[in-house]
Amino acid sequence: MKKQYRIAVIPGDGIGKEVVPEGVRVLEQVAQKFQFEIKFDWFDFASCDYYEKHGNMMPEDWKDKIGKHDAIFFGAVGWPAKVPDHISLWQSLILFRRDFDQYANVRPVRLMPGVPSPLANRKPGDIDFWVVRENTEGEYSSIGGRMFKDTDREVVVQETVMSRQGVDRILKYAFELAMKTPKKHLTSATKSNGISITMPYWDERVEAMAKNYPEIKWDKYHIDILTALFVMHPDRFNVVVASNLFGDILSDLGPACTGTIGIAPAGNINPERLYPSVFEPVHGSAPDIAGQNIANPIGQIWSGAMMLEHLGEPDAAAAIVTAIENTLKEPKLRTRDLGGKANTEEAGKAITAAI
Ligand code: ATP
Ligand code: MG
Repeated sequence: MKKQYRIAVIPGDGIGKEVVPEGVRVLEQVAQKFQFEIKFDWFDFASCDYYEKHGNMMPEDWKDKIGKHDAIFFGAVGWPAKVPDHISLWQSLILFRRDFDQYANVRPVRLMPGVPSPLANRKPGDIDFWVVRENTEGEYSSIGGRMFKDTDREVVVQETVMSRQGVDRILKYAFELAMKTPKKHLTSATKSNGISITMPYWDERVEAMAKNYPEIKWDKYHIDILTALFVMHPDRFNVVVASNLFGDILSDLGPACTGTIGIAPAGNINPERLYPSVFEPVHGSAPDIAGQNIANPIGQIWSGAMMLEHLGEPDAAAAIVTAIENTLKEPKLRTRDLGGKANTEEAGKAITAAI
């Protein structure tokens, strides 16, 4: 019997509604080719349109609706003219992240053919690595407070929280990912020369975890020099693992080094698959170009490849990435952000045809 996957599809807002159908088109094609089945269930919540109708971003029973799916294929959320970002984001994606324990935020950083890198003299092959960010604890805790508020003696404190379980599970994920790569190399982001309690602990756990992976060569850099190396020597990296704050910075800097924001994908992953993971492009809803059929669908399509990898279909995932690369080599199949003339649908259909 054919393998079957159930995917919750949430287009969300803005260009999400334009790029998600292209992602689904490609997934349908690759499923046919690799002999598995995907059942797509579409949902209109986690969008500002839904908010306008219902006064909430999501229905009360959203967990019953999407909690049993194998994964969530997400477009983009946010339409600041209608709903402030702190509501639209916090009442959708952030809830998924927390309630579905998506502790690994994963972004591939790869320079694709035909995409001009802002870094001089870089060609495809020079930049090809992963950023793995801890997504649930660390610097983004809400523990802390303000004392002597609005006086000259005012003091403000916010704590960083690192638990052994929380640190070890993200490190394990990153080492496992490195094991699957040909280079078998891992870099850890630290700042133990300035942050003297939590970061030395992070370093200690990296060293302990590395003992389980003798084949992996690993190194660590302080975050300041690491960001400089991303720009000066991106070829040195393979898998980069970082705490929540450092990972936040690196996972924006990485894709920025590879050209357009329109092609970068991301996963918010619960590696044990106890809950569905979310796969979505790095870009947002892009209100400035929404509704014009000009958005680049590659970030969404590549996110679909990451989703298949997560579900255990690596060959189908690789076929999508190859189809993206081959399509990008053809100038007339590129979208406007890459200097081409193809619209969203044409670009999506070209990648589908390449599969
Ligand atoms: P966020 O939603 O993360 O807060 P944002 O709303 O500030 O981000 P985006 O929606 O990602 O930013 O858009 C940033 C810029 O990049 C916009 O000018 C947008 O038009 C452009 N852009 C984003 N995604 C795409 C895409 N897929 N194709 C072409 N241009 C894009
Ligand atoms: Mg936005």
